[in-house]
Amino acid sequence: MEKKKRIVIALGGNALGNTLPEQMAAVKITAKAIIDLIEEGCEVVIAHGNGPQVGMINNAMAALTRENPNQPNTPLSVCVAMSQAYIGYDLQNALREEMLIRNIPDIPVTTMITQVRVSADDPAFETPSKPIGHFMTEEEATLAAEKYGYIVKEDSGRGYRRVVASPKPAEIVEIRAIRSLVNDGQLVIACGGGGIPVTLQGTHLKGASAVIDKDFASRLLAEELDADCLIILTAVEKAAINFGKPNQEWLSDITTEQARKYMAEGHFAPGSMLPKVQAATEFAESKPGRTSLITLLEKAKDGILGKTGTSIHQ
Ligand code: ADP
Ligand code: MG
Repeated sequence: MEKKKRIVIALGGNALGNTLPEQMAAVKITAKAIIDLIEEGCEVVIAHGNGPQVGMINNAMAALTRENPNQPNTPLSVCVAMSQAYIGYDLQNALREEMLIRNIPDIPVTTMITQVRVSADDPAFETPSKPIGHFMTEEEATLAAEKYGYIVKEDSGRGYRRVVASPKPAEIVEIRAIRSLVNDGQLVIACGGGGIPVTLQGTHLKGASAVIDKDFASRLLAEELDADCLIILTAVEKAAINFGKPNQEWLSDITTEQARKYMAEGHFAPGSMLPKVQAATEFAESKPGRTSLITLLEKAKDGILGKTGTSIHQ
């Protein structure tokens, strides 16, 4: 029998919604798109973002601390862990149900709570720029900075927000466990929200006040699992050059060289499309035969059949 194509899928924000009921509804659609790929004969591993969810948890925990002074502040790393469990719970249920409906009863679904080590020397720690959590007044921001050591910044005239660093993932701590489950044929959800950021301090893994971009964590996961394909599912069917301009051009099939040229020319917005194209390019460059695809969640199946999406290859 031909070896199954191993695919790591990175789910974007639109796959999970912004609120509890939205997520409950969204995971059903997401599960259909993922099980389509399993029916096409692929071996699938799932990673996902967590922006709205970790924001919600972070705000809820901050409110708890405000209401009850005996409750100390919740570190961001703990909020990420909570978001992995919550999203994993909804995805596990939706995937299990979709497989039962389609008469695929024998693939267990597992969520791996995943820590991702970052380097304490990562230059990103010197310039925290990723805004998270609720908006604050200037007084609240000053207080939060004094009390919790937060770095706060004014956010486009809308008030003050905490900003954190977005360092590069260096190591997936639970990779051997993930690999065992995947090799066993299980459907694994890992590296949620880019992973719980930790730094190594002697023998201890210490939670870091940071968020890891899920596109970069997914790239590392795909390389570590020796995947054939990294699929980044997002809110657009293809990446474009001259995005939003009259001369916009959707990209269907590009080489890593072309991708690097377009990145250098500034065609992809930092913080949204750039990390995707960068992760996709790095994965495709990492070993001959590896390819990446950026497309819409609903087009995942058409994408692996070569019908749509932006495909990046050597
Ligand atoms: P996700 O939650 O999937 O990570 P993001 O919002 O971070 O989604 O990134 C996807 C968005 O990137 C698209 O919805 C699109 O508006 C934006 N984008 C920026 N530059 C480009 C580009 N050059 N081509 C296509 N989309 C782009
Ligand atoms: Mg994003």
